Amino acid sequence: MRFARLSVLLIAASFAVPSTHADDATKPFFTLHDLGSGVWAAVAVPGSGAGSNAGFIIGEDGVVVVDTFQSAAAAAQLLSAIRERTNLPIRFVVNTHYHLDHVAGNGVFHDAGARIVAQRNVRAWERTENLKFFGANPPADKKAWVESLVVPDLVYGDSIDLFLGSRRILVRFMRGHTGGDSVVAVPDAEVVFTGDLFWNETLPNTIDADTAAWVTTDERLASEYPQASFVPGHGEVGKSQDVTAFRQYLQSLRQDVAAARKRDYKADALAEEVKKNLAPRYEHWALYTHFIDPNIRQMDEELAGTKRRPVPSP
Ligand SMILES: [Zn+2]
Repeated sequence: MRFARLSVLLIAASFAVPSTHADDATKPFFTLHDLGSGVWAAVAVPGSGAGSNAGFIIGEDGVVVVDTFQSAAAAAQLLSAIRERTNLPIRFVVNTHYHLDHVAGNGVFHDAGARIVAQRNVRAWERTENLKFFGANPPADKKAWVESLVVPDLVYGDSIDLFLGSRRILVRFMRGHTGGDSVVAVPDAEVVFTGDLFWNETLPNTIDADTAAWVTTDERLASEYPQASFVPGHGEVGKSQDVTAFRQYLQSLRQDVAAARKRDYKADALAEEVKKNLAPRYEHWALYTHFIDPNIRQMDEELAGTKRRPVPSP
């Protein structure tokens, strides 16, 4: 378990380590990608401390922001980038899920007047479940920081639509990654922000995952939006075939772990056996060395029925 936590902590981020970039406004946390029709993806610069991707949608009478990175400094840079393009009010922020690397900049946008919108489990878990990324006994400063994060002030169960004038933005609860994930679709621009339900050529964080549900979600996304641009939680902007490739990774992981379990492999031997199959196909993906061992162990727990997942808000 100790190794597991460290792995997750390392990826869930450099937020544990003060980013030198935080004090250097000239260093970019992200690169902006113009997806057309006022829709922008902010793709994290690896190692910058941004932690994840984000983005924004400019409508007739306001702006919707999707995710807020893992620090106020990165969020402030995103707010500046928006202000270079429009003076319309930031009406809403959508948090795609509760993980720190998607919510820790909420305060910047709250102070700018935005409502923070999310599936209701995000509000329930943001200040509690995020503590696990710092181990069993989080340092006092980290604990205080997590417990002071700005939480969503507008929550929904299954779906909510946001309107920026006539522009309709669909926010939909979809299962798989944490149990509280939202997909944000902009149909008139053919753009879908998936949060961490899609990692482009990147191994995912599966600490809270229900991978059977996740596979179904990704099948649905690729078939519902065959022509869309998909902004993943991590990695570059992709197309439906990239969502499919990611879904196939999850399926391979499930199948290979199930097969090794059936042949009675356990623990490290099971991991080595599974990696024989997965490494040749996925070693070149980002975060492979970070996540392959936790992915296998968490899949083993999921298939054994012993995996701990966060409990949904009533
Ligand atoms: Zn993430």
